[in-house]
Amino acid sequence: MIKNSTSDIEDLISLMAKLPGLGPRSARRAVLHLIRKRALLLTPLADVMSEVAATARECLNCGNVGTSEICPICTDEVRGNGELCVVEDVADLWAMERSGVFKGRYHVLGGTLSALDAVGPEDLRIPRLVDRVATEGISEVILALNATIDGQTTAHYIADQLQGQVKLTSLAQGVPIGGELDYLDDGTISAALNARKEI
Ligand SMILES: [Zn+2]
Repeated sequence: MIKNSTSDIEDLISLMAKLPGLGPRSARRAVLHLIRKRALLLTPLADVMSEVAATARECLNCGNVGTSEICPICTDEVRGNGELCVVEDVADLWAMERSGVFKGRYHVLGGTLSALDAVGPEDLRIPRLVDRVATEGISEVILALNATIDGQTTAHYIADQLQGQVKLTSLAQGVPIGGELDYLDDGTISAALNARKEI
């Protein structure tokens, strides 16, 4: 194979290969596909990418990613119902939004506390969270953190910080829809048993 490492196409392939889920091989296939679908895909993609590169930013209030200083969820009066859902990452916020069930606002921490990686409360949006609870008329904080050790450590830390100031809840953990007991790990089964409800 003749390889010209300085060509624009090679540059594109090596940049694409840095995307999560793509390696050099799938990046190469994706780029070839884009070139073949130039009008349908490549040109619109290039346009929207340069637009997003120029405008994307974090919401100053909640940490959501958008194109304005304050994101649409924070400015929507209807969503100011007093419920605040705390998530680790913007991807978690998007997952909650896809479900369409939650009608309140969010607070994106930007990670979890981690002794190993030296991530402390000041590195996350925890001080801002405490501030929001005190000033935004929040009635309930829902801790929707991942069921990992760091996620749960972070949830406990936040619960300590907010204890007595606001109603604190966390997502029930349990059997996923379509999940078979036989395939679940012991932690999931015991969490599901502890969160059982009367039928
Ligand atoms: Zn926001």
